[in-house]
Amino acid sequence: MKKNILVVGAGFAGAVIARDLADTGQYSIDVIDARPHAAGNCFDPYDEKNKLRIHQYGPHIFHTNNQDIFDYLSRFTGWLPYNHKVEALVEGIGFVPFPINIQTINHLYNKSYSKESEMKYFLSQLCEHHKKVENARQAAENSYGKELVELFFARYTKKMWDLELEELPASVVARLPLRYDDRSGYFDDKYQAMPQNGYVALFENLLNHPDIHLYLDTSFVRTMENQYHHIFNSMAIDEYYDYEFDALPYRSIKYRHQLKKEHHQPVPTVNLTDEGPVTRYTDWRLYPGCGTLESESVISYEYPCSYEDNNNERYYPVKTIDNVPQQRFKQYEQLSKKNNKCTFIGRCGQYRYLDMHQVVANSRMVAKRYKASA
Ligand SMILES: Cc1cc2nc3c(=O)[nH]c(=O)nc-3n(C[C@H](O)[C@H](O)[C@H](O)COP(=O)(O)OP(=O)(O)OC[C@H]3O[C@@H](n4cnc5c(N)ncnc54)[C@H](O)[C@@H]3O)c2cc1C
Repeated sequence: MKKNILVVGAGFAGAVIARDLADTGQYSIDVIDARPHAAGNCFDPYDEKNKLRIHQYGPHIFHTNNQDIFDYLSRFTGWLPYNHKVEALVEGIGFVPFPINIQTINHLYNKSYSKESEMKYFLSQLCEHHKKVENARQAAENSYGKELVELFFARYTKKMWDLELEELPASVVARLPLRYDDRSGYFDDKYQAMPQNGYVALFENLLNHPDIHLYLDTSFVRTMENQYHHIFNSMAIDEYYDYEFDALPYRSIKYRHQLKKEHHQPVPTVNLTDEGPVTRYTDWRLYPGCGTLESESVISYEYPCSYEDNNNERYYPVKTIDNVPQQRFKQYEQLSKKNNKCTFIGRCGQYRYLDMHQVVANSRMVAKRYKASA
């Protein structure tokens, strides 16, 4: 007799657990998702009319150093190698490589440096020396100096998070590499690629198993739990507990997709460093597997907002230096530890920003532990 399992959410967190349990032959798994599609935030349907694949919830570039995770996902998709590049559009200057590298400095300051030592010396004259780093501004100023922080980080952060750099932890800027040479890739990972036929096809293969039953347009309600042996839940943990300790803050993004004639940008995604409301825009023709230069160009503009202003679409957990959101999550986490029947997974279940490869790795570990204990 197979054990009945409920998985809430057909994004990477839920789909990977469903598949790993299904592969044992010992479970019957119902996967539900409130949305009308699987693939969670990686949803990238093909737009026949414009001959483009558009990631509906923002560009998703797969990258990892974890060979096991890359091999695991390679069971469900082929890959198109892609070394992600971003440039920033600076008022009065134009496009410059981002994260900052030696060419960024050459463009901004009209230099012609070619050696790491030259850039290091130049930056050392700009950098601050905050001894105790207590927030993202101090961390950024220690690496880049005040002028570059204002130009690339302060205004962008304000519109992205609706918070000042001083209110955010140093980890927000620590994620970004600073390059003293002219490498222009956004990530340093060994594996960087886009799924050959898109994420939708990857998820179709991942969920294609006789013991997995997918129900779309189906929201979780507590009474469902009675019918199942265990629940793996990627919904927002505060929503599950009826906001008992108040709501956890999230940042969200509204997308405006606009057909444009004769558009040109040097790289697939451009960061805007000005005070306007848009943080980034993307030309889908430039992502491998999404379109070609012969396609119509549809440009997606990103407008950060609170999740309440975007139909409760929770994208980025907000962490602040006063620790209020983090403490609030801990209260929910304590409550969840008493709940033996439900395991919270994924970005919203664990209230952590996680890249795709991290979510896949976590879910594989959770499935492994569950199989060992059941
Ligand atoms: C704008 C943006 C860009 C990103 N870019 C990258 C990138 O380039 N590279 C990278 O590695 N990662 C990227 N990520 C991170 C990536 O999206 C996540 O790692 C991944 O989507 C997390 O998977 P998940 O299953 O936890 O969440 P999701 O993909 O959000 O899936 C959760 C699913 O649960 C469903 N759900 C929620 N509540 C309920 C409910 N009550 N009942 C039923 N269903 C419910 C939702 O509808 C959703 O489909 C990006 C994230 C964002 C927001």
